[in-house]
Amino acid sequence: AQERYSSIRDRPAITKDGKTVNLLMNAGLMADLPSLDSSGAEGVGLFRTELQFLVRNKMPKRSELVVLYKRVLDAGHGKRVVFRTLDIGSDKVLPYMKPTDEPNPALGWRAIRVGLDKPGMMRMQLQALMRAAGGRPLTIMFPFVAQFEEYRAARAEVEKTLERERRLGHPLPEVLDVGAMLETPSLAFAPQKFFDEVGFLSIGGNDLKQFFFAADRENERVRKRYDTLNVSFLSLIERIVERCETSKTPLSFCGEDAGRPIEAVCLAAIGIRSLSMRPASIGPVKSLLLRVDLDALRKIIADARHRGDQSVRPAVMAYLRDLG
Ligand code: PEP
Ligand code: MG
Repeated sequence: AQERYSSIRDRPAITKDGKTVNLLMNAGLMADLPSLDSSGAEGVGLFRTELQFLVRNKMPKRSELVVLYKRVLDAGHGKRVVFRTLDIGSDKVLPYMKPTDEPNPALGWRAIRVGLDKPGMMRMQLQALMRAAGGRPLTIMFPFVAQFEEYRAARAEVEKTLERERRLGHPLPEVLDVGAMLETPSLAFAPQKFFDEVGFLSIGGNDLKQFFFAADRENERVRKRYDTLNVSFLSLIERIVERCETSKTPLSFCGEDAGRPIEAVCLAAIGIRSLSMRPASIGPVKSLLLRVDLDALRKIIADARHRGDQSVRPAVMAYLRDLG
């Protein structure tokens, strides 16, 4: 499949009306790294660090993590890599950490909630990331932030770790960018100050959609009822785009929908200009982006909403059919 798109691999994704969309890849294991070159990705928009913790039977040491993260940055040859700190809990239970007995794990003690309550592991990971970067630029993203205060507290841990590294005489990252995933609806309504302070945001569409529609992402039966192109969900995304534009906060989208061509062009049309997806999706998404007019799509989406359609998909499909 990669072969089919090799002719456009090194071309930027520029739409018919001249808008550029950045296409990045999601990764998590060493085996994903060769895709950085073969897919034409402009960087890693989401590196899921918990995968390396999940494939082991004991907690990795800091020194082992330094080696792993160094290899990731080396493979990037200077391309931006967004390291997401541990997103454990819920469906991602570490074999060496006793699972907590919770009635609703997806709504439970997970990701940054664990990181802030038991900061030892988070500090160890932050240190490993900083040492792996050495003097290079470093980008860190916190998962599952539901309110401003959680971001602030996590950011304070980063500052403390930087200070400790400086004292120990380790080289500090040349530039340090710290951002958050927007995957709970509450964060879309955080105070403006949050948008001003956060370095960047990445929409985790898988979780955002699950919590917006109250439909378990693992449960096919309920998940399939709710279309990503549902007008209400797109309104939420548009609201996030507007807020980020006001504060000039860089915004991307890294859920599975970023890798689905029809969803991807709709997200681009409503203002998301950076999409992170599995490497094999970059070709198909770019191929469609090259053929569409985002302005036209934007109007189609607005008209569908005006008519009271539940989802913009039928109208968008009709437009795409007319493209031939
Ligand atoms: C998401 O929630 O959309 C996301 C990218 O993170 P994960 O799928 O790892 O929860
Ligand atoms: Mg998520």
